[in-house]
Amino acid sequence: MSLYAAADIGGTKTAVALFSGTQLIAKDVFPTNGESGADNLVQRIGVSYRRLLDRCGIKAHDIAAAGVGCPGPLDLKNGRIVHIATIGFHDVPIKAMLERELDLQVFLENDANCAALAEAVIGAGKDLSSLAYVTVSTGIGCGIVVNGSLLDGVSDCAGELGHLTVMPGGIMCPCGKRGCLERYSSGTAIANAASEALDERLTTKDVFDRARSGDEVCVHIIEYAADRLAFGLSAICQIIDPGVIALGGSVLKNADIFMPLIRNFLAEYANDAVLKNTRLCVSELDGDQVLYGAAIYAEGKKLDFTA
Ligand SMILES: [Zn+2]
Repeated sequence: MSLYAAADIGGTKTAVALFSGTQLIAKDVFPTNGESGADNLVQRIGVSYRRLLDRCGIKAHDIAAAGVGCPGPLDLKNGRIVHIATIGFHDVPIKAMLERELDLQVFLENDANCAALAEAVIGAGKDLSSLAYVTVSTGIGCGIVVNGSLLDGVSDCAGELGHLTVMPGGIMCPCGKRGCLERYSSGTAIANAASEALDERLTTKDVFDRARSGDEVCVHIIEYAADRLAFGLSAICQIIDPGVIALGGSVLKNADIFMPLIRNFLAEYANDAVLKNTRLCVSELDGDQVLYGAAIYAEGKKLDFTA
């Protein structure tokens, strides 16, 4: 079995891992600290990678390649980060920098696309030709597989669900448009809406906890977030007719409340003919979707679909 390295560069945390095929064998997680700059982050990824090799007794020349998942927008053809607002990176040639640091061939892909690939090969969408992975966390990201291939799009922006307009003329978004899904259904949006309505600073977890205790304001805010998210998911259903939509991200830790709501609203918005073969579920890859997908991407695994 060939060995691969994988990295998941996130807004808050970065994870580095070693894989034997699709088996995760060692993982290291550390704060991204974007303010210290891209050079510094790349160096720390290198330190982490070499520490994992030492820990596992693996020689660097036995690693075949590295896959790296990163928030977008990315310029995949040139291996560059265009812009990551949460980390503060602009126009970073991340692929070339990591190839120098790790002395490996690096395959760069959007993090949500990596997660969708992981779902397609080893997760909820195994053996399905079309699926979507949607992460609901600080923001909202989405990766789409259609007919066995990741959908990148002409500008590498396919599946930018977080910036789908779900409320024309609605809340202003940092992307420059109004009414984006991310402004209604992300963890940040839920926490902000409740904090404003109740005039006290609440976290997303606080809002769900209060809803569980019957706080009507919090229940209403969560219902509205689920409603707009389902509206966004219905667009995916109608356009790609997926076999599964797997949901992940920190907000789905509250799946007990959130999932039944999303399911009910989705049934209102999407056509029965599409929904009858679309399963909505919480990802079971437990926060490591991007690492798994990055390793699979590095392996260049061909998707083998039967459905
Ligand atoms: Zn937006």
